[in-house]
Amino acid sequence: MIERSIFSEEHNIFRESVRRFYEEHIIPHHAQWEKDGQVSRNAWKEAGKQGLLCMPIPEEYGGAGADKLYSIIMMEEQARAGTTGPGFGLHSEIVAPYILNYGTEEQKKKYLPKLASGEMIGAIAMTEPGAGSDLQGVKTRAVKDGNEYIINGSKTFITNGFMCDLVIVVTKTDPSAGAKGTTLFLVEAGTPGFEKGRNLDKLGLKAQDTAELFFDDVRVPASNMLGGEGKGFFCLMQELAWERLQIAIGATATMEAVLDETIEYTKNRSAFGKDLIEFQNSRFKLAEQKTQVQIARVFVDKCIEELLKGQLEVATAAMAKYWTSEIENRVIDECLQLHGGYGFMWEYRVARSYADARVQRIYGGTNEIMKELIARSL
Ligand SMILES: Cc1cc2nc3c(=O)[nH]c(=O)nc-3n(C[C@H](O)[C@H](O)[C@H](O)COP(=O)(O)OP(=O)(O)OC[C@H]3O[C@@H](n4cnc5c(N)ncnc54)[C@H](O)[C@@H]3O)c2cc1C
Repeated sequence: MIERSIFSEEHNIFRESVRRFYEEHIIPHHAQWEKDGQVSRNAWKEAGKQGLLCMPIPEEYGGAGADKLYSIIMMEEQARAGTTGPGFGLHSEIVAPYILNYGTEEQKKKYLPKLASGEMIGAIAMTEPGAGSDLQGVKTRAVKDGNEYIINGSKTFITNGFMCDLVIVVTKTDPSAGAKGTTLFLVEAGTPGFEKGRNLDKLGLKAQDTAELFFDDVRVPASNMLGGEGKGFFCLMQELAWERLQIAIGATATMEAVLDETIEYTKNRSAFGKDLIEFQNSRFKLAEQKTQVQIARVFVDKCIEELLKGQLEVATAAMAKYWTSEIENRVIDECLQLHGGYGFMWEYRVARSYADARVQRIYGGTNEIMKELIARSL
């Protein structure tokens, strides 16, 4: 098989410690968290204590100032462990970078150290009941009132939404100005008028809290504006390639893990006096899946190289997100079939990964929107 070449020896050592973190602090609790619909605060604090949150954030703000490959290892090991509960990726690689890149010095000093320690959990609220793919349709309003803004509206499907202490809210400050009327605000949990709704019951990602958020005359100081008035859309667009590649990274690492487990399963289960792997159908199915996963791996690693050089194009990241998430669903489906009835049982990783994989084609921009972006580049 083609060897990976993007990681150094230091990265490999770091990977071992991340793997231990998942084995000791996440895997043993995950089944309970699936029942609870959320992970424990302790898991966040432990990740913070071990320096695994907000790794790319500079040390002066509590992060590790690490290169993106460390973040990628964190994501790959979470995928390998099959523990989709903790919303670490969104918190560390989307929410914190928004504050780092667009925040004022005061905002960075106030929030980044707490996000890095796990004391605060971050979320980003774009989607609304009436606006998902079409973000220009956001209805949440922020109206200036002296030195404050008053926010009214509602959001849905927000990852970390039920547990969040800090949420970046996408609002309209000038509904007549289209994209230029979009503004981001930082809103802390506990601000009067900001209510968390239901922790939504989902098909997969059972241990991850995904919630509705309501804003009813929520007053925030103007200093909570993130990135400047009317700059919200611009901020949202800047990191999209990286945000989409994160989905491809998770998809690929998940496929690899599920396929490895399936190969082992077919070596250990027998029917008609043979191990499953001896049937030509099993061998061909596994050969097909192995080929697809290998192609995904090479493509995603190449995209990572482009990202590190600052050259990952929007259309290429869209291809990675769209294609790997489609392949992930297909590969896991074939792996589940090779498990027979056991593949349908929740206690088997392949069943959980099957459920979890479905949303990868929907969030982070649906795959139809990805194709639209690719088509625009033609
Ligand atoms: C588990 C989960 C976690 C999420 N986390 C977050 C989060 O943390 N923050 C957040 O803000 N949002 C989050 N989302 C929301 C997610 O980003 C949206 O669900 C997604 O963008 C799609 O929006 P929608 O659900 O409104 O679907 P719609 O936009 O209504 O789309 C419905 C269908 O129409 C298709 N469609 C729409 N427009 C076009 C077009 N132009 N061309 C072709 N087809 C089109 C779509 O592809 C889709 O198939 C999350 C969603 C889920 C399920």
